[in-house]
Amino acid sequence: MTSLGLRPICRSMTQKADILIAGAGAAGLISGIALAKSGYNVIVAGPPDTRRNGRTVALFEASLRLLRALDLWPVVEPISSPLAKIRFVDATDSLFRTPNIDLDAREIGLPAFGYNIENAGMVERLAEVARKTPGLTLIEDFVSRYSLREDHIDAELRNGDTITAKLLVGADGKNSMVRKAAGLVPKEWRYPQTAITAILTHEKPHGDVSTEFHTRQGPCTLVPMRDDEQGRHRSSLVWLMSPVVADRRNEMDDDRLIADVERQVGYVYGHMKIASPRGMFPISGLKLQKLSAPRVALVADAGHYFPPIGAQGLNLGLRDVAHLVDCVKGDPGALENMRAYDDSRRGDIALRTLGVDMLNRSLLTDFTGLDILRGVGLMALATLGPLRRKVMREGVVPSGDLPRLMQALGG
Ligand SMILES: Cc1cc2nc3c(=O)[nH]c(=O)nc-3n(C[C@H](O)[C@H](O)[C@H](O)COP(=O)(O)OP(=O)(O)OC[C@H]3O[C@@H](n4cnc5c(N)ncnc54)[C@H](O)[C@@H]3O)c2cc1C
Repeated sequence: MTSLGLRPICRSMTQKADILIAGAGAAGLISGIALAKSGYNVIVAGPPDTRRNGRTVALFEASLRLLRALDLWPVVEPISSPLAKIRFVDATDSLFRTPNIDLDAREIGLPAFGYNIENAGMVERLAEVARKTPGLTLIEDFVSRYSLREDHIDAELRNGDTITAKLLVGADGKNSMVRKAAGLVPKEWRYPQTAITAILTHEKPHGDVSTEFHTRQGPCTLVPMRDDEQGRHRSSLVWLMSPVVADRRNEMDDDRLIADVERQVGYVYGHMKIASPRGMFPISGLKLQKLSAPRVALVADAGHYFPPIGAQGLNLGLRDVAHLVDCVKGDPGALENMRAYDDSRRGDIALRTLGVDMLNRSLLTDFTGLDILRGVGLMALATLGPLRRKVMREGVVPSGDLPRLMQALGG
């Protein structure tokens, strides 16, 4: 109320843009920067989520090329740590346990498969760049409503302001409101797993090796991170287990939880400590027939979701972003652009969703036939050089047509 007892008049504003991106996570911010650099007038709406929850992302060569092409790698590199080797340890109780398998990036001519980066730190740095990028406006508020029209979209923010754009990009994560507004109905499923995440410090160095311990409840992975400012060695933990066990472990104090971690990983890095808040992620899957609708395109978790195994999620999401940039021409939301985008993404997404699902289920199923199959597959990987190199290359730079921003060779 004013001193005269009158209510202040709140005027809502309408802003216009070529493209509205909902969601200021990694995928939304990188999409915004890339599309603004293509010459479009872009708004990214959403508060950047920089809460620390021990979650990191390993980004592989194709994603790094995208970051380099957008001049973002120098921004992220100082908080990243190389993954020179990936080690698989069969920690199941199977009769057909395979020996440890080591994949070395030098075998495919790379110094590292990729780099591991704390998600919150990366989002914080990308948001800084977004705020300074010409042609890009970051509005740190949630979208509360969409209306989709034939030649534009309208979005209303929680503060009452509205945005009108020619194309709406849904980068608003796995519970995407854009997906619902566009009438894109996903197939969704649950796995009997929850992931606990945390950043750990430990006595012995990790040697840039990412180690996946395959247990009957899912993988327990230690991913290398940079030493902290006090010189303590660090790794991030992604540990999948049954939801009941996850709830029980989450109630433990740090000393008891870390004792369980040390036992699970066989004391590989000596004594460990928990050095961050923990995260808990129920594991589920989601897939769609189409990533687009008239005037709407979905990228990353809004369009596909699967368990955090083999570090595929955001890498796949960034391929969406790079393909979208290639497909968007002229009127950004034109139907032919949306169709081209859908066509470019179908195969890659189907392949990764299926691959991760099969690997996860093969661990969860205590069935001798599947154990033998998984064991044979892993042994083939260990012993057959050409197969191993093909699998490694496919993991870091997928075959098939690469989008323009992912074609640049390493640097
Ligand atoms: C434990 C774990 C480990 C993982 N490890 C890896 C890995 O090593 N490598 C890898 O490639 N992937 C990994 N992933 C997957 C990866 O983290 C995700 O694919 C990636 O973070 C998705 O980014 P995103 O921007 O699509 O979604 P999010 O990070 O979920 O961001 C979505 C954003 O949209 C915002 N939003 C939601 N609704 C609205 C609205 N109405 N208006 C405005 N904003 C809104 C949210 O607040 C959020 O900021 C992992 C995932 C998990 C759970």
